[in-house]
Amino acid sequence: MNKCPSCKTGTLAVITSIDLGPDDDNDGFRFETFSCGHCDLAGAGEYEEARRGTETSVQHRGYAMARTDFTALDTELRTCPARSNHRCTCAVHMRYAATTGTHAPTARLPLVSRERIQLG
Ligand SMILES: [Zn+2]
Ligand SMILES: [Zn+2]
Repeated sequence: MNKCPSCKTGTLAVITSIDLGPDDDNDGFRFETFSCGHCDLAGAGEYEEARRGTETSVQHRGYAMARTDFTALDTELRTCPARSNHRCTCAVHMRYAATTGTHAPTARLPLVSRERIQLG
């Protein structure tokens, strides 16, 4: 877990994570919500995993959202009945599955800013 860049006191924790599976650019991709345990910072995160031979490179970043937008997204993600199964065909998976890689799901969200927050 990473220190919150906003309050510098709390730590950022992933709240809800949905596995979107591999895409053209990544061997694994998870779309997440995260929040700080201490202040109001919350938002959407992207976890990317790419394997090259024996090395695995991971990118884990997030973007801040307004609390109401964060809550709506978190509620939406929780409607998926099988969040750890990237082959799930629920409405949430269908909505975000086609938007991984260069068209990451966060590009479509009402973000406060595109400033990257390091999550891991
Ligand atoms: Zn904080
Ligand atoms: Zn699903």
